[in-house]
Order: sequence, then structure tokens, then C-alpha cells
Amino acid sequence: MKELTCIVCPRGCRLTIDDELNVTGNSCPRGAQYAKDELTNPKRMITSFVRVKNRENTVVSVKTSTSIPKGMIFDVMNEIDKVRVSAPTKIGDIAIKNVLNTGADIIITKNIK
Ligand code: SF4
Repeated sequence: MKELTCIVCPRGCRLTIDDELNVTGNSCPRGAQYAKDELTNPKRMITSFVRVKNRENTVVSVKTSTSIPKGMIFDVMNEIDKVRVSAPTKIGDIAIKNVLNTGADIIITKNIK
């Protein structure tokens, strides 16, 4: 039996999950899925910054298009650190496609002219 707080939405339901992966305390199905994933394959979204090569001292914010396995966060952050993008950028541009075969893209979240 394990207790955890659902982080999928701001309501923050207190979840309980047993060894057979039965979840209680969730107000919606997303919480049950979150609890099961947390026990079997925990995942997280990443937000970070990428350097802009044609603008001095400029970075642009990025995020993963979907959550990635928690154990890969360090490696994905290394990939984000290595990449450079060119301005102009617009929200939704892809800085890295399918980063490290996670199925997640690194998406730009800021417009730079
Ligand atoms: S269980 Fe559903 S309602 Fe509750 S915090 Fe998670 S996503 Fe939100």
C-alpha cells in the first residue's frame, strides 16, 4: 500500500494504491493512471531553456511535448543543453524531435523575433 498526491491537476487528490494496483481516492480516471504509472514507470514533464545561436546571450524556453521516464531526465537535460536553435523562433517549433527515442519532442514555448 502506498499513498501519494496526484499532480495531474491542481486539485491534488490524495491517492492510495495497493500491491494489485487498485487505486482509491482519485476523483477522475487520470489520477488512477497517474498512480499506476508512478509505481510501474514514473514519468515527468521537463521544462528548460535552449541557447539561441544567432542572438548573443539569449535563451528560449522549451518543454517536452509529453512526459518522459523519470530515469531519463538527466540524459534528456544533457541533450537539451547541447542543442542550439536559430531565431526567429515561434511557440510550437521543435528543437529536438523524439529526444533519445522517448517519443517526446522538445518544443519551443516562446516567440523570439
Ligand atoms: S485524480 Fe483527477 S481530479 Fe484528482 S488531482 Fe488527479 S487529475 Fe485532478
